[in-house]
Amino acid sequence: MAFVIRCLDCGHVAQYFPASTDCPRCGSQWREAEYDYETLAKTLPLQWSGRPFDLWRYRELLPVRNVNTSLKLGEGGTPLIQAVNLGMMLGTPNLFIKDERQGPTGSFKDRQAAVTIAALKEAGITEMVAASTGNVAISYSAYASRAGVKLWAFVTSLVPAVKMREIALYGSQVVKVTGSYDQAKQVAAEFARQRGLYQDLGARTITSIEAMKTIAFEIAEQITSVQGLVSAGNGHEAAWRAPDWYIQAISGGMGPLGVYKGFRELRQMGLIDKIPAIAAIQAEGCAPMVDSFRKGVDDVIPVDSPRTHIETLATGNPGRTYALLRARVLETNGTFESVSDEEAFRAMHVLAKMEGLSTEPAAAVAFAGLFKLVRAGQIKPGDTIVVNCTGHTMPAEEMVLGSNWTRNVEFPDRKAETPQEGLLSALNQVAPDRFPRVAIVDDTAEARRLIRRILQSQGDFSIFEAQDGKEGLELIRRELPDLIILDLMMPEMDGFAVMDELKADQETAHIPVIVATAKELTPHEKERLGSQIQALMQKGDFLNDEFLQEVKALIK
Ligand SMILES: [Zn+2]
Repeated sequence: MAFVIRCLDCGHVAQYFPASTDCPRCGSQWREAEYDYETLAKTLPLQWSGRPFDLWRYRELLPVRNVNTSLKLGEGGTPLIQAVNLGMMLGTPNLFIKDERQGPTGSFKDRQAAVTIAALKEAGITEMVAASTGNVAISYSAYASRAGVKLWAFVTSLVPAVKMREIALYGSQVVKVTGSYDQAKQVAAEFARQRGLYQDLGARTITSIEAMKTIAFEIAEQITSVQGLVSAGNGHEAAWRAPDWYIQAISGGMGPLGVYKGFRELRQMGLIDKIPAIAAIQAEGCAPMVDSFRKGVDDVIPVDSPRTHIETLATGNPGRTYALLRARVLETNGTFESVSDEEAFRAMHVLAKMEGLSTEPAAAVAFAGLFKLVRAGQIKPGDTIVVNCTGHTMPAEEMVLGSNWTRNVEFPDRKAETPQEGLLSALNQVAPDRFPRVAIVDDTAEARRLIRRILQSQGDFSIFEAQDGKEGLELIRRELPDLIILDLMMPEMDGFAVMDELKADQETAHIPVIVATAKELTPHEKERLGSQIQALMQKGDFLNDEFLQEVKALIK
């Protein structure tokens, strides 16, 4: 293990001991691990390639001397999932999700807990203190129990009881602090100081930042395996690929700091040629970093009483982490953005319905931020984007779903009827509601699929598809839908001709029509459509909620 700890304030270099958290020269707690990148660059990629795809694949760049296999819970090595449907909806085909839900306790904090507990175990430390908005304490609890380390978890009373019980289940000491997260941190810090216990210091914890780097390492390897090496030029060797954007929801801000350092180290070793733009997203009700960034200040303006339902993200005072993260964001041409709880819950629902990923609201904040940045044009259609998606131990479904999300069936009294009659009676109760019926007539399969996905992600519809004008006309005459979504440019019978036929037929003349077109219409074409249609939508603009509002308005 060839690495040292360098003080970010005075540059002093020291050896690493987990329990010594202050710079011996100036007393600063802001320090970071530094490795011999030049030497490592010669051997690492080759060594990595022969190892299993998990966090310990990158052990030469982690502050643990020997990998203790008995502590492993399967940390790291999470999939990078291409978000095909969401990418299609947003017009950003190179959209990927780093699925941290698949960590041992369902969040990216498992990396932090795995590396920290391994380092403590190695140093003979058997008791520790952590303050948490939930996820960190759950991750630490899992690894601490496995390692025989006693954990004092300080959580705010706002953390859902179900999360607190999960922490207690692992055998951790749960201390519920009635107050804000920042106050819980203060109590925890004083408790640790008085008892001389090791304490997790958030972004000042060497092992935490180091653990988060592995997200960057994995992303670079995974993106490269999907998109290939960056082609060689100017005499340089071909490099691995880094995404254009890395997006994460933040509370304390430690995650993206660590991920940034991971990309920076890959660049230092000549493995990649650029660091992605960092986009850090906060919940509007607790967005001290976003607000401070917009004001252009280097010292964070704390939020005293956070107002968000998304407790996991309720760090009101991130302290110096903000200044460090701000510098990284500026350096990479990234940004800070905030979203409302409602936008996050909507994004959570869209993600589940379009991509099959059930996330926790904190992760949905990142996706709502993505939607905003794409809409604002800050993220470009061709950009390669990776969003950190973390897990699901907080039940938020009731905030997202309405009341009619289940069908209730009662099996009738079996004495009264034969088993077959009972079964039939039960089945009859499952009878589907009559959902609004929508016909999509479009000659491109992707466009039909996109419209279908958007509709399905936002409500219950019975959807019919036809791939040309003639087939569309037959479909409409047969099914008599409540709404038609019609493409104009189709070979042989185009949308104009379909319209003429529909309007000439009494059976179909009244059905509302939304025309979806990829091209700018000429005045003559607009005139030809005239008052026959209810709405004209430009394709590629479907993110605009207008489309859904139109659909909902036209279907009674
Ligand atoms: Zn120092």
